[in-house]
Amino acid sequence: MVRKDLVGRGISDARVLAAMASVPREHFVPQDLRHLAYADQPLPIGCEQTISQPYIVALMTEEAHLTRHSNVLEVGTGTGYHTAVVASIARHVWSVERIATLSHDAGIRLEEIGVENVTLLIGDGAQGHLATAPFDAIIVAAAAPNSPDPLLDQLAIGGRLVIPVGDRAIQTLYSIERTADGLVNHTAGSCRFVPLVSPQAFQG
Ligand code: SAH
Repeated sequence: MVRKDLVGRGISDARVLAAMASVPREHFVPQDLRHLAYADQPLPIGCEQTISQPYIVALMTEEAHLTRHSNVLEVGTGTGYHTAVVASIARHVWSVERIATLSHDAGIRLEEIGVENVTLLIGDGAQGHLATAPFDAIIVAAAAPNSPDPLLDQLAIGGRLVIPVGDRAIQTLYSIERTADGLVNHTAGSCRFVPLVSPQAFQG
C-alpha cells in the first residue's frame, strides 16, 4: 500500500509514510471488510459514515505539515484511524466527533493499540476547541461549503487548516496557512467526503 498507493501517487514526507506503515488499518475497519483494509478505497463504517481511502489520509496528513511538536485538532474522528496516524507524528491530537457511538468505539480501538496522546471529544467540531487552541494543524475529515471561521481563528501563526471545500457531491482539498500577514490558500486536488454537519456547514 505505502509503495504503490502512496509513494506512487506523490506522497513524499517520510514522517507520513512511516506513520501510514505503522498504524494497523485493519484494526479500524469493520470485521467483514478487513480483507479490503489496505485497498485504495473508502469503506463504510456505520452511521452512514466512511473511513477515507489510505491515499487521502496520507495526503491530508502531509498537507498539515506536522512535526512531533504539533498541537492538532481533528474534526470527524470516525473510526479513529486517521487520529492514530496523526498521533504517531504529533505531540497531541484533540479529535471531535458529533456521533457519540463512533467516538466511543474509536476510543476503544485507540486504547487497544496503545495510542495515548489523543483526547476524544463529542460535539460540533466546526466550532473548534477554544480551550486548547491555538492549533498547529486542524484536519477536517468532512466536507464544508467554506472554511468555518472558528477554525481559521484557532490556527496558530504558521499553522494549517486542511479541509475539503465544495458542495455535497465533490470538493477541493484546501490547505489554508495562517502566516503573520494573513491567510494563504493551497489546493491539493479534488476529493469526496461526507458532509460536515453543522450550522457552520451543511444541515444533516
Ligand atoms: N477520518 C475518519 C473518517 C471520518 S468520516 C477515519 O479515519 O475513520 C467523517 C466524520 O465526520 C464522520 O464520523 C462524521 O460523523 C463526522 N462529522 C460530521 N460533521 C461533524 C461535525 N460538525 N463535528 C464533528 N464531527 C463531524
